[in-house]
Amino acid sequence: MDIFKEVRERSNILDVCNILGIKFNRSHKAICPFADHKEKTASFSVSPNKNIFCCFGCGKKGDSITLVSLLLNIKPYQAAKYINDNLGLGLDFKGKTDEIKINRYKQKQIAKQQFALWENRTFQTLCNSIHKMNFVEKDQNLSIIDYYLDAFIYGTNEEKIELYKDSSFRKKVDQLAKRYG
Ligand SMILES: [Zn+2]
Repeated sequence: MDIFKEVRERSNILDVCNILGIKFNRSHKAICPFADHKEKTASFSVSPNKNIFCCFGCGKKGDSITLVSLLLNIKPYQAAKYINDNLGLGLDFKGKTDEIKINRYKQKQIAKQQFALWENRTFQTLCNSIHKMNFVEKDQNLSIIDYYLDAFIYGTNEEKIELYKDSSFRKKVDQLAKRYG
């Protein structure tokens, strides 16, 4: 029995993307899950019929085993085992799962989600502040809030990560959140 072939035939690339936390938009595209290139437009797509993925941003393509193997940085056999275990394909695999690398990926995913949450919350707070401030407060704060809003709307991911790490910025936003929601 060819275990790779079995995994490919028994699983669908969409289900594999789902267990990897890859989320698709309405036109069935996703932000590239590989860290090589930062992007705002979704360039990662899958073909459920052919059971393959392809990214127009970084050029990576292949089947579900390739995807897991590249993304989690594990060997193809481990990738096939990962799919089997997570989708309950019922195939027999020898050896242990590479827990360390899989956990590392999960932690990265959690960090990404936390950043996205912070990004949404902060943006909301800045918008609320502008709407709810009175004239005097606006006079005192508008230029700084405008600056941050600009960074949020037009800034790159790197610039936002800088703000994310900036404790004085976070403190300022916390104060605004308490006051204006
Ligand atoms: Zn890509």
